[in-house]
Amino acid sequence: MNDELELAIIGAGFAGLHMLYRAVGSKRNVRLFEAGSSVGGTWHWNRYPGARVDVESMAYCYAFSPELQQDWDWTERYSPQPELLRYANHVADRFGLREHIQLDTRIVTAVFDEDRHRWTLTTQTGERILARHCVLATGLLHAPKRVQMRGLDSYRGIQAYTSQWPQGIDLAGKRVVVIGTGSSGIQTISEVAKIASHLTVLQRTPSYVIPARNHVLDEDYLRQMKARYEELRLRQFESMGGFFPLAFLDDPHPKFNALEVSPEQRKAIYDANWAAGGLSFYTAFKDLLLDPAANETCADYVRSRIREAVNDPATADKLTPRYPILARRLCAGTGYYEVYNQANVDLVDVNASPIEGAVPEGLMVGGKLLACDIIIFATGFDALTGAIEKIDVRGRGGRTIKAHWAEGVSTYAGMMCAGFPNLMMMNGPSSPSAFWAPIQIAEYQAGWIERCLNHLARTGLDCIEARPECEAQWMQTVEQIAAPTLFAQVKSWYFGDNIPNKKHRMLVYLGGYAAYCAECEHGAADGYQNFKLSAVESRAAVAVAV
Ligand code: NAP
Repeated sequence: MNDELELAIIGAGFAGLHMLYRAVGSKRNVRLFEAGSSVGGTWHWNRYPGARVDVESMAYCYAFSPELQQDWDWTERYSPQPELLRYANHVADRFGLREHIQLDTRIVTAVFDEDRHRWTLTTQTGERILARHCVLATGLLHAPKRVQMRGLDSYRGIQAYTSQWPQGIDLAGKRVVVIGTGSSGIQTISEVAKIASHLTVLQRTPSYVIPARNHVLDEDYLRQMKARYEELRLRQFESMGGFFPLAFLDDPHPKFNALEVSPEQRKAIYDANWAAGGLSFYTAFKDLLLDPAANETCADYVRSRIREAVNDPATADKLTPRYPILARRLCAGTGYYEVYNQANVDLVDVNASPIEGAVPEGLMVGGKLLACDIIIFATGFDALTGAIEKIDVRGRGGRTIKAHWAEGVSTYAGMMCAGFPNLMMMNGPSSPSAFWAPIQIAEYQAGWIERCLNHLARTGLDCIEARPECEAQWMQTVEQIAAPTLFAQVKSWYFGDNIPNKKHRMLVYLGGYAAYCAECEHGAADGYQNFKLSAVESRAAVAVAV
């Protein structure tokens, strides 16, 4: 058993590293535990071919240190996974964080001691850690969605999940199957198609994929953007989703509703966004996620681009999504649709030809053997709740977090849960982070947590817990904001729909950064009005008095 910590942090992704930086700065007795063999979180685990961020590098990084922003040079518009991993390592070194990090340490249980106001954490090797406060920075997209399939154990080839990519797989000259066509799948497919002898893509739901238009960032561009970092961040904080196309820094949009402009103007705006590339369509017009007719103009535009890019009309038709664009996560790819013009690539719609199971040589699909050397599962994540539920978290009365969420996820501000005192989540369920820059949300949350711990210390208290009625109110707000949007009209991981038996409930606060921070500040006002605060000593005093 270690000495008792003031703060235990679980997870060394960007959120956990930043929390650690803040806690070390405050000279707390803190330690960070990370299951992986390196810092970097998402960018440690997701090492699949083609993995790169689809938000522009200049924005997808920490904002807290102007010096770090100025010193670090991103090499490409969208950083590839190895560069993001280097950045995470640089941050750990630059800010002296390594000595506080314990790698290769998976926390498997976390149990709250109600009498002593302490968490006891247990690692996979049985080590026990006592901590007054515990921060779960376990990642919003970490726990893989595993595919259950008859006969998979008998399959003699290699199985690989994009979300936990194994080292040393050689795909060159191999017969490869990719299952899944979300953001991870489409990046993988474009790379694998270049080297596999044959690639079969098993698609259940097509994605809308916009060309990323990645390119190397030259010195001039970096200099210009660095000179405008303050403005860039300001625009980012004002934006709907925490990202915006930097090409439009001088002329930020959206300004109009889609049907307010003429068809010619609309097409010109869509053309400009198609040319800019990436996720810019989110901000092409103000009402794309609110008005189905407006949305349809955008969806139709992208559908026409798919027909242009794919030679075979039947394949283009299979690749064409019919649901509202942007309501499921938009994808940014490189040469994605063009891949299907290659002779070595096939697309199978598994709705028409279901995956029946695996055999030693490959998969049975639509009654036929699909022989393959490697199956890649790009099947996504048990988003937001999965990584937390992997830990056996027990709060008051031994109640598990799984039980707390059994009838649908519930948190206060994506940071705390009633009945789980002194347990904070970063980028947790019902925070904005699946639809707002998670690094900047984590920066805000780390500051909020720091101030909260300072308040407890100042007031001689040692325990904080969300009030159940405030948590219920928060969830109502999350659902009220989502209800009129087109997000609510499709099935997606934003609502947990991709995981069998996961209760359908909005997992994301869509109110944006400013409103989120204002809500969190309000909750902390007047001596943390939305929380119950207490101290072990006062409980003891009450007990004596009684
Ligand atoms: P995802 O978007 O959930 O996609 C999973 C894919 O697997 C879907 O096409 C899904 O089909 C399919 N699938 C799942 N189970 C299946 C089954 N049993 N049989 C056949 N198909 C199945 O997951 P993801 O691609 O990993 O992306 C998740 C999120 O991570 C993204 O939305 C994004 O926010 C983030 N991400 C970002 C980047 C980036 O920055 N570049 C890269 C990767 C991921 P259905 O839709 O029909 O279920």
